[in-house]
Amino acid sequence: MSDKTDLLLRHYLKTLKLPTMLREYEKAAIVCADEKASYATYLQRMAELEVIERERKSAARRVKAAGFPVAKTIDTFEFDAQPSINRVLVQELLTGEYLAKRECVLCMGNSGTGKTHLALALGFAACGQGKRVRFFTVSSLVTQLLERREERMLGRFLKQLARLDLLILDELGYVPFTKAGAELLFDVVSRAYEHASIVVTTNLEFEKWAEVMGCERLTGALIDRLTHHVHIIEANGESYRLRDAKKRLRRRA
Ligand code: ADP
Ligand code: MG
Repeated sequence: MSDKTDLLLRHYLKTLKLPTMLREYEKAAIVCADEKASYATYLQRMAELEVIERERKSAARRVKAAGFPVAKTIDTFEFDAQPSINRVLVQELLTGEYLAKRECVLCMGNSGTGKTHLALALGFAACGQGKRVRFFTVSSLVTQLLERREERMLGRFLKQLARLDLLILDELGYVPFTKAGAELLFDVVSRAYEHASIVVTTNLEFEKWAEVMGCERLTGALIDRLTHHVHIIEANGESYRLRDAKKRLRRRA
């Protein structure tokens, strides 16, 4: 390629905002020449690289915006360690079909059984599928709602939440809330209902939700919305943390 062609090409690729093509075109040209690939094949490969890189970057942006407390995916989840969990259901959910249908997921069971891990894995998968996701522990969401209301910024916050495809509410039931907190949480769930998917993790059976919400009426309405189109993942068994600790102790002994 002449210097002038090269210079112009670099300029055009920059103008068109095609940084991956800019970085890769020379290498790919050598490979394609080696393989005697057609011009169309060369162009197709270039375009493909650009698309893949763009998707990777936007998924990374969505993961950052989701506010996951730690990075956990399904790759590190041992289903054999928790036989109570319906593996087929989890795998089906990871395909993201429930997101298209705006269905909810309830992950219920005792502590340490991998509920948060699964919620994170679902969130991570959704980011990769182009979805807007936010992760909150229920208590931090309620605190933020109360704070925003105090600052008269609640409307803006609710609008941000309304743009989500998936809202993850972790640890319902660990901390009870005030009446105002329960009403705000209910408001968020009502607005999301049938517009977005919600994943909730909880250690409480439905009968106990009213104690946390502090109001039978609100609890009934909340359960009603969350369970209208719902997939329930039950995680009951020995705590993974406990099992892990026992293993380590045994190794030491
Ligand atoms: P829960 O939310 O049900 O209390 P977590 O998801 O927080 O439990 O799990 C506790 C810890 O154990 C986390 O570090 C999690 O990654 C790990 N863990 C739990 N279950 C599994 C599992 N089946 N495979 C791999 N790691 C697990
Ligand atoms: Mg948890």
